[in-house]
Amino acid sequence: MLMRVPTATIRTQVVVPLRLADGYVTEARVFSFDGLVDGREHLTFGLGDMASERSPGDSPRIPLVRPHSECLTGDVFGSQRCDCGPQLREAVERIAGFGGFLLYLRQEGRGIGLYAKLEAYALQDTGLDTYEANLALGHREDERSYVAAAQMLHALGVSEVALLSNNPDKAWQLRRCGVSVSAQVPTGVHLSAANSRYLAAKAERGAHTFDLGLAPGLRSASWG
Ligand SMILES: [Zn+2]
Repeated sequence: MLMRVPTATIRTQVVVPLRLADGYVTEARVFSFDGLVDGREHLTFGLGDMASERSPGDSPRIPLVRPHSECLTGDVFGSQRCDCGPQLREAVERIAGFGGFLLYLRQEGRGIGLYAKLEAYALQDTGLDTYEANLALGHREDERSYVAAAQMLHALGVSEVALLSNNPDKAWQLRRCGVSVSAQVPTGVHLSAANSRYLAAKAERGAHTFDLGLAPGLRSASWG
């Protein structure tokens, strides 16, 4: 069943040269928008051949698209409690190589916010997994919505995507908002000693599609 998605429009588009922490260099066209449903300042990064100027009527070939939810601790500071930093790093390069869009969604901590995420971490240190901790704080397991992501794609003239994600909920929500997902491309598994329980919980509880067998050590991770 399709959901009616309000129209958003491109507000600004500007080229930003990127140099990532490991020295990888590329160029992005960064888009902001008017009319996003939740009033947050979500961004889209056009990469590769999608970094050229766009007008709303454009209908290019199918782009590789990753909706990435903001994670200040992981994206900026390299926190090893999650795999967000390496996922973002991988996504930028893969999208730049193929041509597509990184949707940077300002929904920290699966939508519960930065402070609540830190409180959830504290609860995880007492033995709860990431989903149980959110529930203990009175939040849902995952509060993220991809309506604004769909609005941004519509504003960019993108009606069909190859989705770079292991999360079936992203594909389901985008399809419901009228975005055709013609392929779902898995991301790599970025395992470290500190995030193994987090990844195991994502796989068990969030029905993520990555193969645990590819991640040595995950099965023996402590569940507290
Ligand atoms: Zn994270």
